[in-house]
Amino acid sequence: MADEFPYETKIEIDKAPRPKPPKQVAVIDQTGCTGCEACIAFCPVDCIEIVPGPKHPDFMKLVEVDLERCIGCQLCARYCPWETIDMWGWEEGVEVAPSLTVRSLLYDYDPEQMHEAAESRS
Ligand code: SF4
Ligand code: SF4
Repeated sequence: MADEFPYETKIEIDKAPRPKPPKQVAVIDQTGCTGCEACIAFCPVDCIEIVPGPKHPDFMKLVEVDLERCIGCQLCARYCPWETIDMWGWEEGVEVAPSLTVRSLLYDYDPEQMHEAAESRS
């Protein structure tokens, strides 16, 4: 398992860190996210954050997983009504996250990959 997290953190989250690194992390494919927020209610460690809408901050909001705090419990993936959350091994998850993320509050992902994800959503 990679020790280093490859992305810079954009904001400080004042929540407890996870006790140990998980085998898997949840990555939300934001191109399929409706912003229903159902997943937030299931997350036992409160690591799913609301993200401003890509076109207007107050409308069509999205959510993203704080990959540094996810414990890999799979509950969000199981209960997302739109089946837009997948579980990935830690290394694969952090690698694929930018290409599935339209907008991130948490991390400084690769802008080119995020642009492509945003294009596929529109
Ligand atoms: S439950 Fe699924 S569709 Fe709803 S906000 Fe979470 S990821 Fe998006
Ligand atoms: S896998 Fe579990 S800990 Fe990770 S975001 Fe989903 S509900 Fe939260």
